[in-house]
Amino acid sequence: MRYISTRGEAPALGFEDVLLTGLASDGGLYVPESLPHFSLEEIRSWRGLSYSELAFNVMHPFVDDAIPADDFRQMLDETYAGFAHQAVAPLVQLDTNEWVLELFRGPTLAFKDFALQLLGRLLDYVLEKRNQHVVIMGATSGDTGSAAIEGCRRCEHVDIFILHPYQRVSEVQRRQMTTVQGDNIHNIAVKGNFDDCQRMVKESFGDQSFLGGKTQLAAVNSINWARIMAQIVYYFQASLALGGPDRSMAFSVPTGNFGDIFAGYLAKKMGLPISQLVIATNRNDILHRFMSGNKYEQHKLEHTLSPSMDIMVSSNFERLLFDLHGRDGAAVKELLENAARGPVSIEDYRWRHARKLFDSDAVDDKTTCDTIREIYERNEYLLDPHTAIGVHAARTCRRDPAVPMVTLGTAHPAKFPDAIAESGLSVKPELPAHMADLFEREERYTVLDNDVAGVQAFIAKHWKNA
Ligand SMILES: *Cc1c(COP(=O)(O)O)cnc(C)c1O
Repeated sequence: MRYISTRGEAPALGFEDVLLTGLASDGGLYVPESLPHFSLEEIRSWRGLSYSELAFNVMHPFVDDAIPADDFRQMLDETYAGFAHQAVAPLVQLDTNEWVLELFRGPTLAFKDFALQLLGRLLDYVLEKRNQHVVIMGATSGDTGSAAIEGCRRCEHVDIFILHPYQRVSEVQRRQMTTVQGDNIHNIAVKGNFDDCQRMVKESFGDQSFLGGKTQLAAVNSINWARIMAQIVYYFQASLALGGPDRSMAFSVPTGNFGDIFAGYLAKKMGLPISQLVIATNRNDILHRFMSGNKYEQHKLEHTLSPSMDIMVSSNFERLLFDLHGRDGAAVKELLENAARGPVSIEDYRWRHARKLFDSDAVDDKTTCDTIREIYERNEYLLDPHTAIGVHAARTCRRDPAVPMVTLGTAHPAKFPDAIAESGLSVKPELPAHMADLFEREERYTVLDNDVAGVQAFIAKHWKNA
């Protein structure tokens, strides 16, 4: 399988290189040159497969000759054995024909584990083969950092440095990062805010001379193709569990960077009958505004009760724009360069096509809390705030009650106790058994000044073979 850039100028790459590359050299994102397509008969024959067997069937065409089939199978077995539920992604019923797909049974209790647990193993495999080493550097305001650290804890050829703003992430989130033990894991608390952390990462990628040419930086942010690829699988899994592919499905997806829902769009293009995809956003609603009025315009960041969806622009949306423009890289390049300067629109017929593919809703904090409370009072089931946004949007956008509506449950409620408290419930969400001792575990992190040279010197000194 070959991968091409959404801006049409960077060289095409194979799977291994795409895995190690973040942005393409022309500023675009990599997408497969063509998608595999599965017949209904073939999908039907996957009924009853385990999650990891299904994952192999769905993902193997993307990986093809980069990893021998047996090695890939073993990697998938190990990845999904680490989830705290036999079904890996169990379904919970909320109402008639309405479901939550629980994607938070992985080590850090958020759906990002599905991709990052696999990505760490993929990276290590390819680096071992090439006898290479990388330093992963990332900034986090919470969720991604812990999932990335957990994903890389066993990697021999990777050191990971995660920057978080000192005293500005929740205690659960900090502990999920700082209690993971491993010589290759480095948590840095920067005396600044999240933007300062992000700026340092960006500057470091721009000039890697501080590493002395002995290793190179790699990114595991949400634009990495392998992350999208891993998220396609659970759309197939949920559908098969509910009578697919002989029945169409609807999915509602709490959305920030448009990664998770883009995976659903790909599942549909690969042959899975999906009749509705709902983009569910919080007040940071650039996607909802685009879907409602064909205007793509950056607004100021709002801080909400669903922080993992607090974004100003959705980086993966570029991948959809590429398809909407008939895969014309030059057109996408021009559009996004204009979008960096001010609001943009696309041709009306392209926008109408987007509206056929997606519905959308933006949900404020009060409605999020109302949804959490209502579902708890009716079902004694606690939603985290991100999932609650998905459930609300599913209900407002639903087109056909005969089609099963599945909301992706993106995080465990225990990760976001503030939103539960704010919804007026007195129940306290409990951490699952395998994390019950989180508050007793030993923490390891280094506090550094808000100064990029100091952070770079720390990294240069502490990676494995420095
Ligand atoms: C990252 C995240 C999201 C948003 O996912 P995208 O792929 O960026 O759209 C939603 N919910 C939770 C809990 C997350 O961690």
